[in-house]
Amino acid sequence: MSGRAGRAHVQTDLPGPRSVPLLADQAATESRARTYPRNSPIAVARGEGSYLIDVDGNCFLDFLSASGALSLGHSHPALAAAAQAQLATSTQLLDFPTPAKREFVSRLLALLPGPMRDRTKVQFCGPAGADAVDAAVKLCKTFTGRADVIAFHGGFHGSTQSTLALSGLRASMGHLGNLPAGVSFFPYSYCFRCPLDLRPADCQINCVQYLDNMLSDPQGGIGAPAAVVLELVQGEGGVIPARPEFVQRLSALASRRHIPLVVDEVQTGCGRTGSWFAFEQFGLTPDVVVASKGLGGGHPVAVILYDSRMDVWEPGAHTGTFRGNQLAFAAGAELMRQVTDDDLLGNVRKVGQLLRDGLHALAARYPFLADVRGLGLMLGVEMAASACWTASQVAREFQRAALCRGLLFELVGRGGTVARFLPPLNLHPAEAEEGLSILAAAAADVDRRPKPAAAADA
Ligand code: PLP
Repeated sequence: MSGRAGRAHVQTDLPGPRSVPLLADQAATESRARTYPRNSPIAVARGEGSYLIDVDGNCFLDFLSASGALSLGHSHPALAAAAQAQLATSTQLLDFPTPAKREFVSRLLALLPGPMRDRTKVQFCGPAGADAVDAAVKLCKTFTGRADVIAFHGGFHGSTQSTLALSGLRASMGHLGNLPAGVSFFPYSYCFRCPLDLRPADCQINCVQYLDNMLSDPQGGIGAPAAVVLELVQGEGGVIPARPEFVQRLSALASRRHIPLVVDEVQTGCGRTGSWFAFEQFGLTPDVVVASKGLGGGHPVAVILYDSRMDVWEPGAHTGTFRGNQLAFAAGAELMRQVTDDDLLGNVRKVGQLLRDGLHALAARYPFLADVRGLGLMLGVEMAASACWTASQVAREFQRAALCRGLLFELVGRGGTVARFLPPLNLHPAEAEEGLSILAAAAADVDRRPKPAAAADA
């Protein structure tokens, strides 16, 4: 076992006595829209590598990583040093060129597959994934002169009104009305619960065939779209990797019909799935790539990368005050140096496989761990209902049991039924083993827990 693994321990009830007043103060002063501390009621003192220490001294292995933004965990010395050095020079500089930005851009372009490298333009957006998705769709509309967009059931692209309009999650927007119109949703290759009720062995990828048919049908109800917007592994939708054949046929139909293909790599990008961008594993050349989360080495930054033939913006067509975050450029460049020089992606693939094998072994013991899936270090387990509990209840019990034993992760997917694991990309194998043994103990806790009288979903 490595010197740094084996640290997770919980010595108080959760929330602990020092966390309680901070959580209460937060509830009194902050909006009801707050999310993570509801399921994981802790107040944080500090982070150290793959671990998070709460104000009660409890230490959690952090498989949330600020929703994937902390590529190398908390306070990584080299990323901290890069940001610290930059802090003395400049922090925000709109879209002026700087040496820090130059280094960032050249490392980013160098990480693209050869054929894309020389013809890709980088656009810096406001520093959130949602702003970059918005920019991507605006660019495609400007380029094509068309207005409509194709999106997918279960997709998530942000919480602004324009990105919610592209997202499948209806619960949080039902009352908003008047979201941008013109988005048509089509089935995603969610084979565990096929939206067309087919089986992967003999389905012929009918989900993408259906889209093709609708675009060909003069009475299909949709016109030629400005863009197809796709996640290659749906994140918030439940860690659902697209079937490679689905992606390849989608890409072929988009190119045949001259529809720009926007790949939203906000969650899958920057090494998370074991390649720098997930699209590299799908034999795909997207027209637009959206990246954020891990890209700035823990500091906010968001970009779109697109084919230079699409560079049709007017000056100032997509602005934003915080487009020039020099700290993110400095830390992000150091992150990319580690990808290039230190085989960080090899670690993602190796430790990701270790975690995935361990999850499969657990799933073989506990039928409520129904489907293990993901790529690299973006992994998920979908829960199934048991005789007495709904799948959502099983997932909440599992999450709670793991937290009480020192592992932090979030629930995603329909009804929060998928445990999603986004550990740091430099996770040590011993830390992965530690996470697996906590998950094994949590599954055993859930298995022997007294069942509620009725399976009412909250
Ligand atoms: N796109 C995807 C695929 C995401 O997972 C997210 C956030 O989770 C976003 C866009 C929105 O990013 P942000 O929360 O930074 O606006």
